[in-house]
Amino acid sequence: MTRPIVRERRYAATADADLVLFIETSEGNKLRLKVINVSESGISASAQGVAKSDTELEPGSVIPCAKLLWKADAQEIVLGRMNVRRCTIADDGALSLVCTVIDDIIPVTGPLAFQLEESNESGGQRQSHEVNPEKFSLGDVAQSGDENIDLLSRFEAIKVYRNEWRKKPMYMYETVRTPSKGTRVKLKTPRKLGRDNFVIMGSNDYLGLASHPEVIEAAKQALDQYGFGSTGSPMTTGRTAIHEELREYVAQIFKKESVILFNSGYAANVGALSAMIHAGDFVVADSICHASIQDALQMCKGAVRYFKHNDMAHLDRLLTEQREHHRGCLIVTEGVFSMDGDLAKMAEIIEIAKHHRARTYLDEAHSFGVIGDRGLGLWETLDTDQNVDVIMGTFSKICGGIGGFIAGDQQVHDWLHFFARSQVFSVSLPPSNAAGVLKALQIFMTQKQLLTQLRENIAYFAKGMRRLGAPLAEDHQSAVIPVVIGDERKLSIMTECLLEGGIYVIPIVFPAVRRGGSRFRFTVMATHTQSDLDLVLSQFEKAMSMADFRFADNGMEQIKTALSASQRLRKIA
Ligand code: PMP
Repeated sequence: MTRPIVRERRYAATADADLVLFIETSEGNKLRLKVINVSESGISASAQGVAKSDTELEPGSVIPCAKLLWKADAQEIVLGRMNVRRCTIADDGALSLVCTVIDDIIPVTGPLAFQLEESNESGGQRQSHEVNPEKFSLGDVAQSGDENIDLLSRFEAIKVYRNEWRKKPMYMYETVRTPSKGTRVKLKTPRKLGRDNFVIMGSNDYLGLASHPEVIEAAKQALDQYGFGSTGSPMTTGRTAIHEELREYVAQIFKKESVILFNSGYAANVGALSAMIHAGDFVVADSICHASIQDALQMCKGAVRYFKHNDMAHLDRLLTEQREHHRGCLIVTEGVFSMDGDLAKMAEIIEIAKHHRARTYLDEAHSFGVIGDRGLGLWETLDTDQNVDVIMGTFSKICGGIGGFIAGDQQVHDWLHFFARSQVFSVSLPPSNAAGVLKALQIFMTQKQLLTQLRENIAYFAKGMRRLGAPLAEDHQSAVIPVVIGDERKLSIMTECLLEGGIYVIPIVFPAVRRGGSRFRFTVMATHTQSDLDLVLSQFEKAMSMADFRFADNGMEQIKTALSASQRLRKIA
């Protein structure tokens, strides 16, 4: 697929042009390169028989003065400074160079035009290449514009793309919720839909505690007692009695020595992983781990590898090949995978970790509050001799608030207290949020019917989806119900149809999921009523027929995911 780019037109030098780029490098080497093509901002050129010693033309280096020469040098344009984008010298001395002008544009419509193919007719106008959301994904746009030397001009493609995308029904990524809470929300939609009441099917507030009166009351009280913000990082003035109470409560739930708080789950993963992994260490993570884990692993100094999603043989092979060459070793995975709703094979991972002297790190963002007998997370399903070394969790799912945490041994806590930069250098959670989260956890731990209700709703909705043909496992456990559509045009039609029918669900496309894996990510809440779920199912059935979608069309991949989750659970149970 061509990348969608907003860029200038490039012109090839005409066959008889004899167009030469003359450069003098900062080392004083003079080179004459045959011009291949030119745009307003850059040139690609080549030369034969160049010595390797000329390789000071590193990408990013600056050529102090460049000229374009033609007609046996009788004509020239001084280009001034140029930036080297790419330079290679083959073994036979063939050099190819791509560089961009720094100080000005190249006057492709001036006298130079006669040396360039077609430049007279097109006049060298800047041309907007197609940036069509129906053809190109966000991922394509992310890679575009790199050839621009001006950093901000690179983002032109996304401006065009967003404007186009916003006209499409599938564009739900700036939907505004007006004052409303719970499972029925009011939305401001770009088009008038004749309704302002929608069933929300994409919230992470699985237990509905974000709008629980006691949670709201606890937050209000803390607001009165402590004021609006926490005023400092946990190391300075941002540590209050309510933060301490919350830490202790979470540590008890997870049966760990200590808990350290972060401002979000994202900050917890980034801060903890980047602090824990040092140069010389080895970390292996599941390939579909959340962005916060992937970003953290980019920041850490150790060697990073990803194992194929839930593929234990691959994990074992990577460790067999690499473990002995490294110092510390960590395996990272998620309890419930956020886009697929399936579970990590944690019991097997722990055995593999033991075998290879590796430690384990489990992100329980979507499993805490849902998985396990008491809903404490995937760790709860493990045998007593199977210990997850470090547990990460968030307060943004089952608590309906915000915040992240790491639960582990005291030494892990102490290390992160000083070295997890997202915690040290960032103001702590507002006390009102800490109080609301604590209350939400207390409600969750004492009012068992919430979890029962959530599970009943998950089972009911999954069954309804199965009836419509969705290949979900009989015992699908998580509140994340992925319904893969695959074809983005159909997804778009279905999104619109669902919205018209009063259902607010977010379509997920590449790069959030793999190409061809675009989907609805339905999330079920304990507070959905049966009639809410019936409405969603009936509207979904209608949307299927509007888009002429059948599950048989989207391949077997989803079946595989769902089955492996159920088989695994049976094994654990
Ligand atoms: N880990 C996973 C698996 C997630 O899905 C998310 C976000 N949904 C996070 C971490 C980040 O959590 P938060 O939104 O609380 O920052």
